[in-house]
Amino acid sequence: MDSRLVIESVFRENRELAYQLRDYIVRMLEKLQERWGSPPRLKVMDFCGTHEWTITHYGIRSLLPKNLELVAGPGCPVCVTPSHEIEAAIRLALDGITVYTYGDSYRLRTVKPVRGAFSLAEARALGGSVKVVTSIYDAIFDAERHGKPSVFLGIGFETVAPGYAHVLLGHLMPKNLHLLSLVRLTPPAMFYSLGMLREKPPEPPVMGVIAPGHVSTITGAKAWVPVAETFGIPVVVAGFEPIDVMMAIALILRQLLQGRAEVEIEYKRAVTFDGDLRAQAAISRAFQVVDAAWRGIGFLPRSGYEIREEYSEHDARKAYGIPSMKVEDWRKDIPPGCKCAEVVLGKAKPTDCPLFLKRCSPSTPYGPCMVSIEGTCAIWARFGEGGLTEEMAKELGLLRPEGR
Ligand code: SF4
Repeated sequence: MDSRLVIESVFRENRELAYQLRDYIVRMLEKLQERWGSPPRLKVMDFCGTHEWTITHYGIRSLLPKNLELVAGPGCPVCVTPSHEIEAAIRLALDGITVYTYGDSYRLRTVKPVRGAFSLAEARALGGSVKVVTSIYDAIFDAERHGKPSVFLGIGFETVAPGYAHVLLGHLMPKNLHLLSLVRLTPPAMFYSLGMLREKPPEPPVMGVIAPGHVSTITGAKAWVPVAETFGIPVVVAGFEPIDVMMAIALILRQLLQGRAEVEIEYKRAVTFDGDLRAQAAISRAFQVVDAAWRGIGFLPRSGYEIREEYSEHDARKAYGIPSMKVEDWRKDIPPGCKCAEVVLGKAKPTDCPLFLKRCSPSTPYGPCMVSIEGTCAIWARFGEGGLTEEMAKELGLLRPEGR
């Protein structure tokens, strides 16, 4: 896609800044070439599914020189939720327990069927009780109303944890509703994916990270300091507007040129270094940090939240005897032929998968990265190289005359 088209149609009131940032990025790469003595080729990891959405939807890659690649990371909670946990939820639904889920987890496929159902959507079609909600509070109101045994499927990263903690600490759930905590913590996954890439360095190497802005509103930018220190690369916490992403890339290149490897906050309108201390305290009171399974990745130390004993009366795992996944089972967690394990670790692109837009598409997802709006395969399938086609942009009069 033509870079002028992207800037004129996407950035609107920020278009002058976008042109300046694009030129700045080119200049930084030229200066790095002078410094390093050879043309720089590098990757920047955009860890979070929402950043990947912004980048792909708005065609940001087409604004960048070819020697600077953006590679997606494991920042999609639905993609990394083990099949085992969804199978347990399907079992509950088919046993007559109402299962509340977010919309994107509703169609998440398991590796093996449970009584004929590969997803909660299929369980519902078979008569199971599954309800799509937008928050745990919807589940509370509904479960209070009907009074039947119910479970809320608590999928998400650190961003959702304060809400769950608030509900647990305040004993806001009715006795018939339980929470199945599937909350995962992002810094361990970033550590793991960068560690894997360091063991077998890709060509070109990952030399910077765009860190998730929404997670960092809770954790603070301090959560990423060990990443910058351990791997010696810049980490920039960024917002989710196209201009935020461009700014983050510019800041990463500036750090590389200055020989720095630090955490910087681009998303200053929402993120501080320390984060939300009240939310952090509430989370620590309600949850303990445990080793947890990530689909396609394996068990990561201290990467999940489990409900503390004091609040176990609300814990679905205890109420219904739902076992955690066995360590030896994680390699069987991805359906045959699906490359999600490589996609979430930034080792492969969706287009490297032979099933992409063939057996696996947004309307009939086969692998876990094709389900959620934050899944890399789903994003690439929907938007390709950019959401707005040249033809449509011209028709809408979004293109300025040539000349700059
Ligand atoms: S296209 Fe589908 S099958 Fe292939 S890696 Fe993505 S989610 Fe998995």
